Amino acid sequence: MSEAEWLAKSSIKPKKRLSQNFLIDQNIAKKITRLIQGQLADKVLEIGPGSGVLTELMLREQYRVRAIEIDQDLIDLLQGRLIDYPQIELINQDAMKYNYDELEGPLWILVSNLPYNIGTRLLVKLIMDVPVIHRYVVMVQKEVAKRITAVTGTKEYGALSVVSNLFTKPKIQFDIHQNSFIPRPEVVSSVVTLQREYLTDSKERTAAFNLAKIAFQQRRKTIKKSLAGENINFDKLSDIGINEKSRAEELTPDQYLLMANMVSNEN
Ligand code: SAM
Repeated sequence: MSEAEWLAKSSIKPKKRLSQNFLIDQNIAKKITRLIQGQLADKVLEIGPGSGVLTELMLREQYRVRAIEIDQDLIDLLQGRLIDYPQIELINQDAMKYNYDELEGPLWILVSNLPYNIGTRLLVKLIMDVPVIHRYVVMVQKEVAKRITAVTGTKEYGALSVVSNLFTKPKIQFDIHQNSFIPRPEVVSSVVTLQREYLTDSKERTAAFNLAKIAFQQRRKTIKKSLAGENINFDKLSDIGINEKSRAEELTPDQYLLMANMVSNEN
């Protein structure tokens, strides 16, 4: 039975308020799980397993999966579908409220067809607060994928690009057409991988992201104006190769980091 037929037979009615667009194309699901590139029995965190199309594939490949799903109806469905797999842990919770300190051990991989309503907020939260996740394989709207991977000076470049690049190496892998989902979403999706680096200066990187957020809130202003309240010694900026007349989108993630380092050395 195809995934679409299986969904139709289940009693599930997709809920728009929970951004439920279920992937029905098994070939795409296989392409996504191939991007996990983990070792046998690696631990995968899945946010929003939905009807379980990706979850079941990962379980078949012997991954250990902890899946957080907010919708009790889907949890009930998943309990039936995944009954033969002892290495699944289903958690009925809001992923924004889950205590990620409960991810034991150092190396987790996040796999998620991210719910649109919380997608970028959740991704930023996980990048900043959950360093045990070392690889992310996420499906997002194409426009969001472009923002995650955008380079300095482009129209998509913003605080989301800065945080992604400060903590990970992000890459767009491929697009997914709307017809691969039920119900059909309004826009094309993209699969993005983000590979986390080993970092010893996360505190400074967090400070750099905070500077970027403030600068991008007033993106038309020069950083001398937008970052006026941030303890930056503007007289010394040129020493580190930064022009105080630059605007937010003209500074690379590394330049935000240089500024954050300068602030922390002066304090
Ligand atoms: N992974 C499935 C797939 O690819 O077909 C479903 C993806 S669907 C776009 C998003 C899923 O996230 C839905 O199952 C939805 O119920 C769930 N979801 C929405 N908001 C959530 C939240 N705050 N916490 C956990 N799950 C959530």
